[in-house]
Amino acid sequence: MATPKKKTSKSRRDMRRSHDALSASVYQECPNCGELKRPHQVCAKCGQYNGKEVVNQKKVD
Ligand SMILES: [Zn+2]
Repeated sequence: MATPKKKTSKSRRDMRRSHDALSASVYQECPNCGELKRPHQVCAKCGQYNGKEVVNQKKVD
């Protein structure tokens, strides 16, 4: 198996990991019901997108 010739220094290792951080996911208020939803996604609560009902939702409350 291929084996590294030199030990990776803490600096090199940490430079590699500088891109590994996860960013918090973005949420916006639904213009119809005010529930938080992800942008460019159908609202999970009211099933609307761009002012139209796209997915039928069971009315629970
Ligand atoms: Zn909604």
